[in-house]
Amino acid sequence: MSRPVKCRRVCFLPGVTYFKPAGIPMRFLSEVCLSLEEAESIRLKELENLEQKQCAEHMNISRPTFQRILASARKKVADALLNGKAIRIAGGNYGDVALHLICPNGHEWDVHWTSPADPVPLCPICKMPPIDSSLPRCWRSDRQTCCHDKIDNRKT
Ligand SMILES: [Zn+2]
Repeated sequence: MSRPVKCRRVCFLPGVTYFKPAGIPMRFLSEVCLSLEEAESIRLKELENLEQKQCAEHMNISRPTFQRILASARKKVADALLNGKAIRIAGGNYGDVALHLICPNGHEWDVHWTSPADPVPLCPICKMPPIDSSLPRCWRSDRQTCCHDKIDNRKT
């Protein structure tokens, strides 16, 4: 029996999902893939300046798990910066990710993000759709710019 994966709460989905070194054609680049959890771990620790304990609580995971995710994230970013690789920020395992959504009336709730193809979940209180900025790009009104199915076609 495998242990059930704990729900990892991610309150932020980056608007930009691809970084590359300037002036190097895509075909010569290797890339590192940063999962949403890894991006969130860097955001909480480095940008929000939270203690590891707070970060772990924020993401609904244990402190050792947070530490492992953060270490992996830092390693990938360092590898990309120093070895001139592109960074792709992508979903990873959607089932692990809980989204924190906000409706226009200010209600907040968490949902499990199972797939970008799922219908957008409505506010459990007032049944309004969540505001766009709390949604991953795949669920926003401009769905054709979905980062998950279009990113492979992206050229520089
Ligand atoms: Zn609401």
